[in-house]
Amino acid sequence: MITFLSGGTGTPKLLRGMQELLDEREIAVIVNTAEDMWLSGNHLSPDIDTVMYLFADILDTSRWWGIRDDTYITHDLLARLGIEEFIAVGDRDRAVHVARGEMLRRGMRLTEATAALCANFDVFSTVLPMTDSEVTTYVTTRRGDMHFQEYWVKHRGDVEIEGVVRRHKKPPVATGEAIRAIDASDAVVIGPSNPVTSISPILECAGIREALKRKPVVAVSPFIGDAPVSGPAAALMRAFGKESSSAGTYSIYRDLVDIFIQDIRDTATIDGALRLDTLMTNRGKSLDLAKNILTLIYGC
Ligand code: GDP
Repeated sequence: MITFLSGGTGTPKLLRGMQELLDEREIAVIVNTAEDMWLSGNHLSPDIDTVMYLFADILDTSRWWGIRDDTYITHDLLARLGIEEFIAVGDRDRAVHVARGEMLRRGMRLTEATAALCANFDVFSTVLPMTDSEVTTYVTTRRGDMHFQEYWVKHRGDVEIEGVVRRHKKPPVATGEAIRAIDASDAVVIGPSNPVTSISPILECAGIREALKRKPVVAVSPFIGDAPVSGPAAALMRAFGKESSSAGTYSIYRDLVDIFIQDIRDTATIDGALRLDTLMTNRGKSLDLAKNILTLIYGC
């Protein structure tokens, strides 16, 4: 088994290749939940949903979120009724958020709610929230702290940010399921997800770093030169006090990783790093990168 640490875009692109090469039951994914939020009484867990929809083969891979060919009847009617949601949630996607909100209100752990939803979608891989308690990424701006979703989705990242903070009532602890998945794995892959908003929240859960130190760990950089392949990682890395590059990414992972992979086009020099084509512009490129990583792990 291999365990992946994932956000909602870069690592899912890699998982799209992995699912063609591995038995789905041999894949576990520990997913970032620090972008979760309640909206109109329903529970959004964007990264969990992306990973779950990928395995269920219903993901909208033109955006890497939401359900393919979804409709927006409820979103549009809510707007007419004066409920302006800043995220355009599709109708079927919303049904998942309604169900998860209800499960959580009835006292289920997020891990249990995720398992129930995955079972309904015939997902055979193990999709695991990093923690069962609430932790949220906020960016610090001149106007005060802002939920990451508000910064990125509502303001499209067009706000100057000075810092990144994680808010929680109690410090997040990795779930037993997440630690057991790592312990049962041949290796762990930190996919090319945002180091600040997707991977660091997972690494900050008590127990994760210690578990990773017991296993071979491969990490893939989401940067080429000083820019990420997509998304707001450059500004976030600077606000996090890190260089916006593969070198900055490596500085966050260095005590954990055995193999660090940077793109063949990358300009950063990192001693000992391996070069691969990491640009997954289509299914075939995801498959090629997945094959190369499996060769590194299993040596054949
Ligand atoms: P989010 O939850 O939607 O922010 O998604 P992730 O954190 O999982 O992924 C965002 C990161 O994926 C960005 O920093 C991108 O640079 C990176 N990314 C997206 N596509 C690719 C790709 O094809 N190759 C690599 N190396 N990184 C990618």
